[in-house]
Amino acid sequence: MKSEIRNPKSEITLLMPVQYLKGVGPARAEVFARLGVHTVGDLLEYFPRDWVFVPRAIKINQMEPNRTAAVIGQVESTDYQSHRRRPMFEAMISDDTGICRIVWFHGGYLQNQLQPGQIIMASGKVTLYRHQLQMTNPKFIVLDEKHSQSAEYFSGGVYPATAKLGSRQIKRIIRPVLDNLGELVQEFYDKSFLKKANLIGRKDAFAWIHLPPDEKKLAQAKRRLKYDELFLMQLGLGLRRFRMKHFSAAKACVCTDEIDSRIRRRFPFLLTEDQDNCICEIAADMGRSEPMNRLLQGDVGSGKTVVALYAALLAVANKRQAAIMAPTEILAGQHFLSIERYLKGSKVRRALITGGLTGKKRAELLGQISCGAIDIVVGTVALLQEDIEFQKLALVIIDEQHKFGVEQRAQLRKQTTPHCLVMTATPIPRTLAMTAFGDLEVSVIKHSPPGRGTVITRWVDRRDRPKAHEFIRERLKAKKQAYFVYPRITAVEQDSDVRAATDEWRNLSDSVFPEFKVELLHGRMPSAKKQEIMSEFRKGKIDVLVSTVVVEVGVDVPNATVMVIEGADRFGLAQLHQLRGRIGRGEAKSYCLLFGQTDNEAARSRLEVMTRCNDGFEIAEQDLRLRGPGEMFSTRQHGLPDLKIANIVDDFDLLTMARRNAFELVRQDPMLTKAEHRNIRRALLAKFGDSIGLADVA
Ligand code: ADP
Ligand code: MG
Repeated sequence: MKSEIRNPKSEITLLMPVQYLKGVGPARAEVFARLGVHTVGDLLEYFPRDWVFVPRAIKINQMEPNRTAAVIGQVESTDYQSHRRRPMFEAMISDDTGICRIVWFHGGYLQNQLQPGQIIMASGKVTLYRHQLQMTNPKFIVLDEKHSQSAEYFSGGVYPATAKLGSRQIKRIIRPVLDNLGELVQEFYDKSFLKKANLIGRKDAFAWIHLPPDEKKLAQAKRRLKYDELFLMQLGLGLRRFRMKHFSAAKACVCTDEIDSRIRRRFPFLLTEDQDNCICEIAADMGRSEPMNRLLQGDVGSGKTVVALYAALLAVANKRQAAIMAPTEILAGQHFLSIERYLKGSKVRRALITGGLTGKKRAELLGQISCGAIDIVVGTVALLQEDIEFQKLALVIIDEQHKFGVEQRAQLRKQTTPHCLVMTATPIPRTLAMTAFGDLEVSVIKHSPPGRGTVITRWVDRRDRPKAHEFIRERLKAKKQAYFVYPRITAVEQDSDVRAATDEWRNLSDSVFPEFKVELLHGRMPSAKKQEIMSEFRKGKIDVLVSTVVVEVGVDVPNATVMVIEGADRFGLAQLHQLRGRIGRGEAKSYCLLFGQTDNEAARSRLEVMTRCNDGFEIAEQDLRLRGPGEMFSTRQHGLPDLKIANIVDDFDLLTMARRNAFELVRQDPMLTKAEHRNIRRALLAKFGDSIGLADVA
């Protein structure tokens, strides 16, 4: 019935919906859509998750222990032993040379599939069990006339499948597509490059990834496809960067020796070597009329604010404005306070915009910003994106802590083309920095300023909570302050093992530390109240601050030397490290006490990493190892297509090569207009759409 709307085989194109492929139709097309496969092109990139290589069948008497083998035989008997610790399904098969036992653990489902008399082909590892050869958990098929091509039938790719669409069905559906690779897949590179880079052709790569003739060819196919994926990704980033540099102009902010020493005089300490290097890089960028696009990485407390303020003052010295955007009001307030401290007595005009500011006062301030009467404006990202007009904004500093909002950055760039400095306290491993921020330059503060006390971290058993409280009491008596951090504001019934800030605040202030001032801080409080509590805590008028993760960002109270984190197993590693960064800011020794009861292996590993490791970069690497790049870092979240086959950690060498070649191509042919780059260009457009601005050029 549907046959008349199906395209004939010869007209298969990459953009054709999979629905029109033989064996698909509307219902299956829906299942495919849920797997992210809409077009034939998607299907070609729906790679197997595993591959099976079936050796040619041998006779039973040729089987040898510890080798994989395939045998064909008749089922003599079957037996299911469900009472065993590991239930086991067993079949005896025979051919004209002997008899062999096959077992499948947890094989209860095979009772309906295998019956005496059938001929099966089984393929798997041969082992010795009580001096008899046997196969354990082999793959198998029941042979009949239809499956005479047995080896091919179950060798090859194993696709990620669903209950409604099995791997074998996918294999059948993709077959005619593979027969048309000649028209569907175009080569990107010339022969000499392929040879030099030790890459196989693109057509072969697609053919072999789906139907590998042998393991070596499969490995070559994987390498080629991974390379292409990484190359296109880096090319997209490179082009985006190129556009940014060449199609938008920024104010060149010159840094003279005089300006430099005038700015440095503002800081009551010598800058560290790392701070100096970062400032050098930033000043060089800002000195050009291409917009700076730089990421400043440094652990919490490493001294990023000083570097950022230097950049802001450099803009001001060039008679321009700078904006500092923070993720929360608390952090914006914090930035403003430290700026005030450094700029005491300076002529630089600065303002903090808060949500509390309304009506006439707000209008007045906005007026001053738009006429250039304010030099440095601090506020939250949300506030600064609203209706504020700058007279001559030359620099935007975005403090993202450990969030990255590429979208926001893009949005801001539409209005103006200021230099852009993004600060993050999440030390991103080099691999990630390179890919996620492939269009950003990166500056790193590796070592914190001198005079930092050490932080001792302990994972405390809940039975030792009274002891921990006594320990904290001693520190409070010595006039130190403490944070108690909870994963929740209020308790929820379904999750009764997690303590919540509001309840524990009452308990701590009434029963545990009645002689001290204990206050509560959380995100749902009105912002004026939050500011007030933070300010009291900063002044030392509050001894214990009970809070949710709102303290995670930007709070700088060197006298706070104790942090208790409840439900620590609920937090991610990066977040725990961020939280801990609130203490150890003064010279005194600090203590971080983690509470969290869990059997979860990953959570336990996180807490163990915390107790033995203080270095943010090392923690980030551990995090990457524990979580895998996929979870820690979704490329899509950053406006890039997800990687389907390559992995930026495991394929780092290929990534490096791809990046080098992609950036070289951008240098040679930035619009990809040359005929020899036509295929690359087409693939790139298919992947990125016009977000990289290629589409406007025919
Ligand atoms: P970050 O923003 O990276 O978390 P900050 O810039 O807030 O770090 O700096 C943390 C603390 O270190 C602040 O109290 C700051 O005054 C201090 N600090 C920054 N740079 C130096 C330096 N070079 N020498 C001594 N102290 C410094
Ligand atoms: Mg800071």
